Amino acid sequence: MLFEPQYRHDNKAARVAMTLFRLTQAIKKMTQSESDQAGLSPAQIQGLLFIYHTRSDVASVGNFADMIGSSHVTAVKIINGLMEKEFVQKDKHPSDKRITLLQLTEKGFVMARRLQDWGSSLEEVMSQMSDEVLDHLELGLGSVASTLQKNGHLVVSEPCLGCMHFQPNIGDGNEPHYCNLIKKYLAHEATLKECPEHTPKLRGE
Ligand code: SF4
Repeated sequence: MLFEPQYRHDNKAARVAMTLFRLTQAIKKMTQSESDQAGLSPAQIQGLLFIYHTRSDVASVGNFADMIGSSHVTAVKIINGLMEKEFVQKDKHPSDKRITLLQLTEKGFVMARRLQDWGSSLEEVMSQMSDEVLDHLELGLGSVASTLQKNGHLVVSEPCLGCMHFQPNIGDGNEPHYCNLIKKYLAHEATLKECPEHTPKLRGE
């Protein structure tokens, strides 16, 4: 029904859904063009950026699949492509051999650093909007993202700050922070990396 104009005319949720659908098409086109310049596919670039920004003990194939919303098999194919280019290497998780962790090679690290501006064409478009419009969008789209997350369609990885499991500054020098979820002390640098289990604090907490 979403693609039927008359139905959309009478249905606000369908109109917004169609707008989001169209936006994804435009974003896909923009990121494809930026990826072509780097000689990689958008999914490969997301793979490199995922490993670069994610805490090393959770930079797994499974979490990458969840982040891009693909099957495990598809994620493995993307990673294999990056391994053929010598950007990525795999390792077994030290305490759970069923989990495959991903690391950047030196060459992959250099490429990931070069890709930090990937997505900037979209940011450029957004920067043409007024602050007021951006405030409304941030609120509205944040709500869309959190509903998609609650329904299991989206994984949002964020650093520790703002996570309900984060206990800052309760440990010693090297690992001053603590995570109540994984029951581990964490180095400050590790808490600045993205974590797929980040759970935002409720307002007022
Ligand atoms: S669950 Fe929260 S506190 Fe724990 S590592 Fe992830 S982001 Fe940090």
